[in-house]
Amino acid sequence: MGSGRHDDVAAPDLSLGDDLRAFVDASPSPSHAAAEITRRLREGGFRELSETAVWDLSPGDQVFTVRGASVVAVRVGSDPVAEAGLRIIGAHTDSPTFRVRPRHDVRQAGYRLVGVEPYGGGLWHTWLDRELTVAGRLALRGGTTTLVKLPGAPLRLPSLAIHLDRSVREGLTLDPQRHLQPVWGSELSTEPGLLEALAAEAGVSAADVVGHDLVLADTQPAARAGVDGTWIAAPRLDDLACCHSGLLALLRVSAETLAGVSAETRHTQVLVCNDHEEVGSGSASGARGSFLEDVISRLAGSEPQAFARTIAASKLVSADMAHAVHPTRSERHEPSHQPVLGGGPVLKLNANQAYATDAVSGGWFTERCQEAGVPVQHFVSRADLPCGSTIGPLTATRLGLSTVDVGAPQLAMHAARELASAVDVPLMVDAFRGCLAV
Ligand SMILES: [Zn+2]
Repeated sequence: MGSGRHDDVAAPDLSLGDDLRAFVDASPSPSHAAAEITRRLREGGFRELSETAVWDLSPGDQVFTVRGASVVAVRVGSDPVAEAGLRIIGAHTDSPTFRVRPRHDVRQAGYRLVGVEPYGGGLWHTWLDRELTVAGRLALRGGTTTLVKLPGAPLRLPSLAIHLDRSVREGLTLDPQRHLQPVWGSELSTEPGLLEALAAEAGVSAADVVGHDLVLADTQPAARAGVDGTWIAAPRLDDLACCHSGLLALLRVSAETLAGVSAETRHTQVLVCNDHEEVGSGSASGARGSFLEDVISRLAGSEPQAFARTIAASKLVSADMAHAVHPTRSERHEPSHQPVLGGGPVLKLNANQAYATDAVSGGWFTERCQEAGVPVQHFVSRADLPCGSTIGPLTATRLGLSTVDVGAPQLAMHAARELASAVDVPLMVDAFRGCLAV
C-alpha cells in the first residue's frame, strides 16, 4: 500500500500551483503585484513603454506599460489590429484589505494603533488574530515612487475575549471605525512612527516621503493544503490567481513563437491587469477608466475607423475568480451549477448581464478549452440571490468588446486566506493560451 497512491494514477503537476504561491507571496499590495508582473514580463523579453512617449510598434514587438498599479502588456501580431483584432485577457491586481489613512498615528488605551480604512468588501472577521504587516508604495519628493513592505508581522487586530462579550455567540458584529484599527505597540514604546519605519525600510529619508498607497497584508506564506496537498491556501487569490494564469499564458505564447514552435499570430495579444476592481473600477487605472482604451487607440492607429474596426474584431476574456460549491453550504449554489475545486475554468453567466458572457463569447471560450483538452464548468447565481459582478461587463459597456466572463473555482472569496486548487492552474493557463493563440 505504501503511500496509498496507485501506480497507474499520475500525480497532478503542482509546479504551476507552486509558482502561483510564489507570485502571491511577492504581491502583498496591488503595487507589488504590478511590479511582479512587470518583472516577469521583462524576464520574458517585454520592454516598458511610457504612456508619455510616442509608440511606434512593429509585428513581433513585446511591450508593456504601467498606470498606477495597473499593467497592460502587448505582443504585436503580424496583421494590422483593425483587420485582425485583439485577443485580450483581463484580470485585477487588487483585493479587499485596509488602506492606511493619511493621519494614521492613533493612540488610545495605552496602545499605538495604525488608522486604516476598509478597502472593498472583505470578510473582515477573518483578519482578526493574524500576523499582519503594511505594504505598498511611497511617493517621494521629486515625483518618483518606491515599493516598501515592513518585515516581520508588526501589526495585529486582536479579537475581544469571549468573557468580555458573551453576545458574540449570536454573531460577531464589527464596526470598522471602532473595532478594525490594528495595534502595533504600547504607547510607552519609543520606536519611531510608521512612516519613519517604512522610510528606513525603503532606504529613503522620511522627510522625502510626500504620499503613500499602503495596505495591510497577511504575512503567512501561501501554503499547499488538503489531504493530498493539491489545494492552495493563500491571501488575495481573487484575483492574483487570474493575473498569474493570464501572465503565464502570454509568456508561453511568446516563448513558443520566439522558439519557432508556433507561427506569429495575425492578431495582437494583450494582457490587462487593472487596479480598483474591488471598489467598482471607477478610477484612472481601473476598468472603467481609459487605460485599456488608450492603449487600444495607439495600437489601432489614426485612420478614422480603425478603432471601431479593432473593437469589432476583438475578444476579451474577463478573468476573475469563481465560487466553488461550499462543502457545508452547498444550498447557496444553484443545484445544477456547482463548480468544484480542480474541475477546471468556470464560465460565468447571468441573465441580467452581471456577467458579459453571451452565446458567441461563451461558445468561443468553450471551443478553445475543447481544443486544449480543458474541461469547462458553469456558474450561475440562484434566482433568489443577487449576483456579483466583475470587470467584464464594465469593459464590455465602455468599449463594446465581445466579452466572456470566466474564472478559476475557489472557496472563501474575500477572506484573509482563500482556498483554490493547484490542479486548476495549468488548466487555466492552457485555456488562456488557446484564447491568445487562436
Ligand atoms: Zn475578483
